[in-house]
Amino acid sequence: MKAISIVALGEVDEESLSAIEAGLWQAFGFDVRRADARPEPAGAYDAQRGQYSSVLILRDLLGYVSQGDVRLVGVTEKDLFIPMLSFVFGQAQLNGVAAVISLARLRQEFYGLPPSRPVLISRSVKEAIHEVGHTFGLTHCADSTCPMSLSNNVRQVDVKGEDLCRNCSIIFEENTNHIRSRIKPGAEVRK
Ligand SMILES: [Zn+2]
Ligand SMILES: [Zn+2]
Repeated sequence: MKAISIVALGEVDEESLSAIEAGLWQAFGFDVRRADARPEPAGAYDAQRGQYSSVLILRDLLGYVSQGDVRLVGVTEKDLFIPMLSFVFGQAQLNGVAAVISLARLRQEFYGLPPSRPVLISRSVKEAIHEVGHTFGLTHCADSTCPMSLSNNVRQVDVKGEDLCRNCSIIFEENTNHIRSRIKPGAEVRK
């Protein structure tokens, strides 16, 4: 059966993983399953920056894709970067298979605030939906309440909801028609 797979990279907050599973199912309507955890992304560590390369993690993830994975989402507690930016909350292949998100900067304690589980969980779900949305061909949305809007800081994450806006929903449906028709038994269409 085709499903979106979630894979923990090393030790990852369990409650966030469960919430991401539920949130991705809710947002995209595909089955979501948990793949076996993989090791910490040690090979992606950049000692000079003290952060992990999201590009290298995406490459690792491609090696973990198994048959039946519609998409594969890595979740890490490590802080991620791409060369041009001081950090990223996550990264994904546009119209590709793999996405990764980091919980590091979604935690209140990263900013010297008291920890909050509801805040962490809510942000994790939104960022997972955002990155998986890219893999389904969605680009950044001008609606600041849509999970596909670009977040440069957690305030912008907190403004977003978990429901795709109307425009993004339409694009998602169009982009995934071919996958959906294949997962529904007997629904194969030809033209
Ligand atoms: Zn984005
Ligand atoms: Zn949108």
